[in-house]
Amino acid sequence: MNILIQDARVITPEGTVRTSVGISDGKIAFVGDNIPQDFSHDRLIDARGDILSPGFVNAHCHLPMTLLRGIADDLNLQKWLFDEIFPREDRLDGTMAAAGTRAAIAECLAGGITSVSDMYFFCDDIAREVLDSGIKANIARGLTGYFDGSTRTTHKAFREQEQLLRDWHMEDHGRIRADIAIHAEYTSVPALWRDAADFAREHGIVLQTHISETEHEHAECIAKYGKTPTEVLFDEGVFDSRVCAAHCVHVTDADAAILASNGAAAVHCPCSNAKLASGIARVDMLRKLGVHMALGTDGASSNNALSAFSEMKTACLIAKLRECDPTALPALECFRMTTAGGAYAQGREAECGEIRPGMDADLVLISADRPNMMPLHSEISAMVYAADNTCVRMTMVRGKILYENGEHLTIDCEKLRYETERIRAHLA
Ligand SMILES: [Zn+2]
Repeated sequence: MNILIQDARVITPEGTVRTSVGISDGKIAFVGDNIPQDFSHDRLIDARGDILSPGFVNAHCHLPMTLLRGIADDLNLQKWLFDEIFPREDRLDGTMAAAGTRAAIAECLAGGITSVSDMYFFCDDIAREVLDSGIKANIARGLTGYFDGSTRTTHKAFREQEQLLRDWHMEDHGRIRADIAIHAEYTSVPALWRDAADFAREHGIVLQTHISETEHEHAECIAKYGKTPTEVLFDEGVFDSRVCAAHCVHVTDADAAILASNGAAAVHCPCSNAKLASGIARVDMLRKLGVHMALGTDGASSNNALSAFSEMKTACLIAKLRECDPTALPALECFRMTTAGGAYAQGREAECGEIRPGMDADLVLISADRPNMMPLHSEISAMVYAADNTCVRMTMVRGKILYENGEHLTIDCEKLRYETERIRAHLA
């Protein structure tokens, strides 16, 4: 299937160009006004001056947690997690997790998100929904525990992780990747970190984790080990593989140096951090010290939306507030975090994140004719500061249109509403 997108404001790594983009076999074949003679299209999309952007990457999420959206807001983290979230997660099963995942994917696609990094359980159910929906995902089983002295061979979650890798890694030519996840330093022990690090090295996969989300957790780690979470994980070899580290709110300059020199990605989750009052990550410091940056929504239970537009705007605003400096985190830098930066966090930088020939056609077409987009002085400014999900006209992954003009082409949203309402009643 060949698609020609004509008359678009195309966001390329070199800047915005009003031109055409050709898509062939799921990849970007060319960008420019000179259409190759051997290219013929099956479908023509007239962009009418709308913005064509690389698809957004949500580099940190817990997809099934849409089911817990709005169930407990405005509480402190401990009370929220232990009294409201954990007891309800115990009542979830695979069918429910699948419905929650589908709801999350539908929301992501409607907001131009083409790839997501996920850490949860029920990985089989999540992977099946990812496969059917057409979105890209890096899926990891969040490993906790080993407190009872269990090992890689005896730990149930580790066996599920191995199964995830065996059954789903590189499924559909790598559209699905299996990552591994150490849930967090404070929910596990050094033996588990070593095993997870070995596993990531053995299979050449990304290692996801939560790092220094709250001050409490960061301080407790120093009291326990005499080192920060980043330092103790580094000492056990965790950073030998590509690490995708969510939050990094309370990391020190020395932690940032470890992240930078090991090529790790820090995933900023500004809305979740603000809602749980965890603090404001020092994005300016992290960037200046050379840390690869990405953006994530975190789960819908602590956000409560899965919108790249909300994250981009909030990230820029709170960075400026934190530094008392309006030049902190410029819009273009934030946009790059959400596209190429996210692709890097997923180990997909050679595959997507930018619009240029040879890359996967993971694209989002954003309407320029909405009132909040007029007049269009700067495409990047409009996308970061003014746009919202309603501006998304079309979302495609690998050249396949998954969402267009308000309609999902791979997800039955009416059925989904019925399913999620039934689950809501069960969890209430
Ligand atoms: Zn998280």
